[in-house]
Amino acid sequence: MIAVYVHELGHAWIREHVPPTRRITQQSVEGFCELLAYCYLEHMGETHQLARLHRNGYTEGQIDLCVKVHRVYDLYPMLEWMKHGVDPYLQEVDPDRVRFVDRPAPRPAAPRALPVWRPPVPAPERLTLTGIMTSASRGTAIVNGTALNAGDKVSVRVGTNSVLVHCLAVGTNLVTLELPGTGERMVLEWARPSAP
Ligand SMILES: [Zn+2]
Repeated sequence: MIAVYVHELGHAWIREHVPPTRRITQQSVEGFCELLAYCYLEHMGETHQLARLHRNGYTEGQIDLCVKVHRVYDLYPMLEWMKHGVDPYLQEVDPDRVRFVDRPAPRPAAPRALPVWRPPVPAPERLTLTGIMTSASRGTAIVNGTALNAGDKVSVRVGTNSVLVHCLAVGTNLVTLELPGTGERMVLEWARPSAP
């Protein structure tokens, strides 16, 4: 019963691994499945069952060839032949043809999409206050996309350059800045968007 089970697992393996384009005779399919049962019976020392398997004529001699090939080459070339062999059945006159396989060429890898280059979003050409966030303890001003708190000394993008800015104070709708490079001070006001 277990030998039959192993045989049927062979059919399941064929379903999963043998390409549908492979031309192979039904006797070869059964011979291969019987070979798997044969390997199991041999492993278990079931000599009586092995003899029955050879006698049953089910595979029209393919089981004998499969066993012969298996003895010479082991199982892996048999598996490869099942999948990609050029012959539809093993031949008594030349069992060596089990090595004749036609593996499909590996499919070329799909070209990798290159990341799309996007020009950087330009910063305003002059320092502009675009928002203020205030809490009970402090305010944060957004100047040219950079968040500034009172006391910060950070560089802020202006056009395609950066300018070092010292934030002196943040009010409810304005920010006082100093440019350490020139000592220039400026107050930027924020025009709060009016309610619709
Ligand atoms: Zn079968």
